[in-house]
Amino acid sequence: MPGAQPTATHFQYRKLVRITAQLVFDTAWRIGSGREGTTLSDLGVMLDPTGAPILPGSSLKGKLRSTCETLSHALGVTACLLNVDASSVACVSDVQHYREVRDEYQDILRNQAVDARLAWIEEHTCDVCKLFGSPVMAGHLRVSDGALEDWASMVQVRDSVVIDRDSQTAVDGLKFDYDVVPADSRFELRLDLENPSDQDLALVGAALFEWHAGSSLGGFTSRGLGRFHLQDIRVHGVDLEDPIQRIKFLTHTEAHDRFTNWGDWEPFFAGYIQDIVHGD
Ligand SMILES: [Zn+2]
Repeated sequence: MPGAQPTATHFQYRKLVRITAQLVFDTAWRIGSGREGTTLSDLGVMLDPTGAPILPGSSLKGKLRSTCETLSHALGVTACLLNVDASSVACVSDVQHYREVRDEYQDILRNQAVDARLAWIEEHTCDVCKLFGSPVMAGHLRVSDGALEDWASMVQVRDSVVIDRDSQTAVDGLKFDYDVVPADSRFELRLDLENPSDQDLALVGAALFEWHAGSSLGGFTSRGLGRFHLQDIRVHGVDLEDPIQRIKFLTHTEAHDRFTNWGDWEPFFAGYIQDIVHGD
């Protein structure tokens, strides 16, 4: 159908979900700056111009992605791991695989209606990439930088030795030091989902349960750094099929007034998780 018009509804808001939580580091942690530390240690941490630690949205998103990949088997969803050979899941996010099917996709893009394009993408994208995005589709998820709420107002220095990978013993004379942000720092976390599928909500929900129980983030986690947990998880959203939520969304200016509180996060996400595990 050359020249067919896009189906505009594919690109409109139908459902928006905002998840907020407090992310608390139970141990010291570090996200490396790639430079010498402000303490003159060998390895600095990412700090803003005022010297406060930064928890980038990209780091949080990467961690969320790896958590979803870890949980994909338990949930019964597909995850390409960005590597078709390793995962045996064909997905356009794998560069090698995309090269093989790119001509086919370009042909659909040029000659067919948007519905055919979306169907092709659906078929060639793994479930995790449907949430996080791929070279041919925007993901449904946006992860904001962590908003710092509390911290010790100083970075600390740790000494370490270089460990020989084969013998697992310290290499004589090879020492280095690195900065860490002390334990008990606290950030507000915000995840926004645009038109999430039920499966997207199940994946994010399962990751929230995992993070609530405790996980780790950043560098040197094998040395015990970066342990964190979530608390105070809240789910707000707008379902534009619901006339009351729709009016509220359209007639308010502040995000917290436009969105409706969708209640306790645990039963909310447990419902979506049960549905995909039972195959409903
Ligand atoms: Zn994928």
